[in-house]
Amino acid sequence: MSDCIFCKIIDHEIPSAIVYEDEDVLAFEDINPLAKVHILIIPKKHIATTADLCEEDAAVVGKIYLVARKIAEEKGMAEDGYRIVNNCKFFGGQEVFHLHFHLLGGEKLGQFV
Ligand code: AMP
Ligand code: ZN
Repeated sequence: MSDCIFCKIIDHEIPSAIVYEDEDVLAFEDINPLAKVHILIIPKKHIATTADLCEEDAAVVGKIYLVARKIAEEKGMAEDGYRIVNNCKFFGGQEVFHLHFHLLGGEKLGQFV
């Protein structure tokens, strides 16, 4: 997707602080962190929203969760815990329409609706 900011990050057209990369998944620091640790984990395939997932995407979503677990361990968050958030479309507060999972932690997080 030529006009997708996260596809541009994948293609290194826009700089980002990458914390993990493999052939299917990229993880990078959120530019506007909402917690001490705030990392975005995305599939390299352009999938706009959770509502656009299809059967063949199940593996990459599973992989994203394993990457989240790995990063959480590396950041020392495994014992105290952390949060993984996916916002879907307008009511969910999604602003960037390339599927992404927020990995938040490093401190006690507030509750949300
Ligand atoms: P969402 O509201 O779930 O769509 O979240 C989009 C997230 O992307 C926000 O937390 C933004 O701070 C983050 N974001 C937007 N542009 C960039 C960028 N160039 N690099 C890193 N994070 C970004
Ligand atoms: Zn994209």
